[in-house]
Amino acid sequence: MQIFWLKRNLRLQDSVPFFLSMKASRSYGKVLPLYVHEPGLIAQPDVSRQHQAFISETLVELSTEFEALGGQLLQAIGETVSVLERIHRCSPITRICTHCETTQNAQYERDIAVRAWCREKEIELMEVEQNGVARGKQSLEAFAEYFSRAIGNSLKDPTGADLSQRFARLPFTSCAISDIPLAAGADKPGRQRGGRQAGQDILNNFFNVRNLSRYPSRISSPNTAWASCSRVSTYLAYGIVSDREVFQAVDRVVSIGHGTLTAPEFARLQNRARFFLDRLNWRRQYLQVFESHPHVETRCMLPQFDGVREAEFDEGLFLAWSTGRTGIPYIDAAMRCLRDCGWINMRLRATLVSFATMNCWLPTHRVAQLLATEFLDYEPGIHHVIHQIVSGTSDFQALMIYDPMKQARDHDPQGQFIRRWVPELADLSGAEVHELARTAGCHSRIAEDLGHGPYPAPVVDCKLTAKSAKSRIHALKNGFPDPGRDSGGANTSSPQLGLI
Ligand SMILES: Cc1cc2nc3c(=O)[nH]c(=O)nc-3n(C[C@H](O)[C@H](O)[C@H](O)COP(=O)(O)OP(=O)(O)OC[C@H]3O[C@@H](n4cnc5c(N)ncnc54)[C@H](O)[C@@H]3O)c2cc1C
Repeated sequence: MQIFWLKRNLRLQDSVPFFLSMKASRSYGKVLPLYVHEPGLIAQPDVSRQHQAFISETLVELSTEFEALGGQLLQAIGETVSVLERIHRCSPITRICTHCETTQNAQYERDIAVRAWCREKEIELMEVEQNGVARGKQSLEAFAEYFSRAIGNSLKDPTGADLSQRFARLPFTSCAISDIPLAAGADKPGRQRGGRQAGQDILNNFFNVRNLSRYPSRISSPNTAWASCSRVSTYLAYGIVSDREVFQAVDRVVSIGHGTLTAPEFARLQNRARFFLDRLNWRRQYLQVFESHPHVETRCMLPQFDGVREAEFDEGLFLAWSTGRTGIPYIDAAMRCLRDCGWINMRLRATLVSFATMNCWLPTHRVAQLLATEFLDYEPGIHHVIHQIVSGTSDFQALMIYDPMKQARDHDPQGQFIRRWVPELADLSGAEVHELARTAGCHSRIAEDLGHGPYPAPVVDCKLTAKSAKSRIHALKNGFPDPGRDSGGANTSSPQLGLI
């Protein structure tokens, strides 16, 4: 019997391991789809209840999809090796087909244990590469070639097929959902829903000429980003849709534009499509960096930063930042929005991390770990590498210190976002929310009804702390303090997070 092992790639469409296992059912035996709820991984500090709830919703849909094809998904609780051992005793396993994943170290360790077990039992393990990430000694293919190949591939979709003769029967019954250990934290009321249908809706609805044409201009403000970003990250992170499916969706839009737009409009669309694809290229690059530097999950990319912020860890500042009570309205609005919805746009993420690591001098890994549990789309490769860049602990030379006050004035000039998420400031009008002398001590009836006390005064002076962080980071990187002009500490030029 073969196992089609679902880890983070929770889909049947464009799933090479699923396709290959089905294709080989005569030679290797029938196929058992398997998902393992692993207590050791569920207990990891970067896993939270919202991730687990999202996965559960996805598995419900997947189970239905398997049934429609004539099979059944086995869900089991336990460490993967012991679950495989149990299956193997009931019905000998000939081969395991799965995706090769670039993910957090705990999951990578699990993969190593499975590899060793397969070797010991002489079971073939097929790990199919994806996302164009090179492993081991391979060299990375250029993005343009990877993209061209991806849009040229015909993607397999088994929907509608009768594959009942190729599926194995369950060797034992699936676990009861109520027995699955719960991850820490609470679910989020405003998060995206799990399942292929929700991912498919994004592929069908976001990718059209209108959305792609206006994409770049509306992604930086939290007031427009919600409707203007694709929101596909979560479905990519859990492999509910593949990167190839997203590439093909972009390509489709460009083809439609070619047939319907004027030449200048089409040139503009092409330009915007490239802008969007740049981000998918960054995604791949970050995954690749993490593949080669997995230690950045727990250590700094530049070792001279290890322990530096940790030695000055301020619990009070961490609490203020992580609960949205820093007294800096834009930061608090971002954190409270994130805690409710599990998503904020990229610029806001960078502003939040810059404030935590530069202004509050909080340790990069404490910040990254907390945000890993808050981001529903937590993708370890992207997440940890960007944290290194924003906190100045990588070899990326340009230092990006985001001034949260400037970011707020630029991207939420009338304060709608701030007032929505910081009800203490609900009675202030327009740009008044940007005046810290007014916001400190502010309270409103709405906030009182919601149980909020008066709004706090700023926990740090943003200009002074940015200046100090800049000079310390410069000294740590170069061995001497920053000799440059005093820019008030805040480099407010537009950062290019995609450049490594
Ligand atoms: C501190 C920090 C932490 C981040 N952590 C994550 C994370 O855990 N998971 C995650 O998917 N993204 C992360 N990002 C990148 C980015 O913020 C999100 O990908 C994006 O906001 C997701 O929303 P979207 O799908 O609507 O993006 P869109 O703007 O629609 O972009 C399309 C896709 O491109 C990719 N992408 C976009 N921006 C980036 C980027 N800067 N780097 C790499 N890929 C990008 C994503 O796959 C995204 O889904 C992080 C950014 C920062 C600054």
